[in-house]
Amino acid sequence: MQVIRLEALSDNYIFLLHVDAERLVGRHRQQNIAAVVDPAEPQPVLKKLAELKADLVAIFNTHHHNDHVGGNKRLMEQFPQLIVYGGAEDRGRIPGQQVFLQQGDRVQFADRIAEVIFVPGHTRAHIVYYFPPEKSGETGELFCGDTLFSGGCGKLFEGTPTQMVDSLSKIRSLPDDTRVWCAHEYTLKNLKFALSLDSNNTDLQKYFDQVQAYRNRGEATIPSLLGVEKRTNPFLRWDHPSLQSAVNKSDAVQSFARIREMRDNF
Ligand code: ZN
Ligand code: FE
Repeated sequence: MQVIRLEALSDNYIFLLHVDAERLVGRHRQQNIAAVVDPAEPQPVLKKLAELKADLVAIFNTHHHNDHVGGNKRLMEQFPQLIVYGGAEDRGRIPGQQVFLQQGDRVQFADRIAEVIFVPGHTRAHIVYYFPPEKSGETGELFCGDTLFSGGCGKLFEGTPTQMVDSLSKIRSLPDDTRVWCAHEYTLKNLKFALSLDSNNTDLQKYFDQVQAYRNRGEATIPSLLGVEKRTNPFLRWDHPSLQSAVNKSDAVQSFARIREMRDNF
């Protein structure tokens, strides 16, 4: 499975999952198929599908915000057979939703299976899709919407700090070499904030330099690696002593809440 990153709106990414036709011939009937994660808008998706001559078979939505579902309707018109997946709690909020997913559910695309992880916090219904590696040479792929950003996390629109810590804990337990496909290019600003709290973190300094160089060249910083996030992202480090002392808290949820509040005002 190939993941293709498409730019959309001002800073969104849409991810197109595509299977290499030749490799799957004989094992699967549909040979040139794609699925899309969080189509913010239809045009970039339709354009890439035309280039690939691929059929769109699924939309995987992480949550109901318009910059994640804005392309659903148009894509369904073009590909009436496709299936729209989203979280069970999002019933009534995702255009065209047909499948209502809960923690632990599995969804298939071509020869890969994704595990659904329920991660309320940014919204009360948010889910992420995790494709574990199934054979050697494959990497784990995490499509995390607006729950985890590189260097940051989603704002708490419909959830509490307790819920978000619980949700991010689930993500933090995945393997370090998981590729993290975040839905927005917020990395540079996130890392400026992270450095303001955690300036002695040498992994963070190194990652910041890398990200700055990427952005100076106009390149994307997504996907990130979960191992890098665990070492640098303040929103995965609520229990780390240096972060806790930077925000003057000793409790995990209180530290997280304070870091989130500071980021909201950064
Ligand atoms: Zn959102
Ligand atoms: Fe968003």
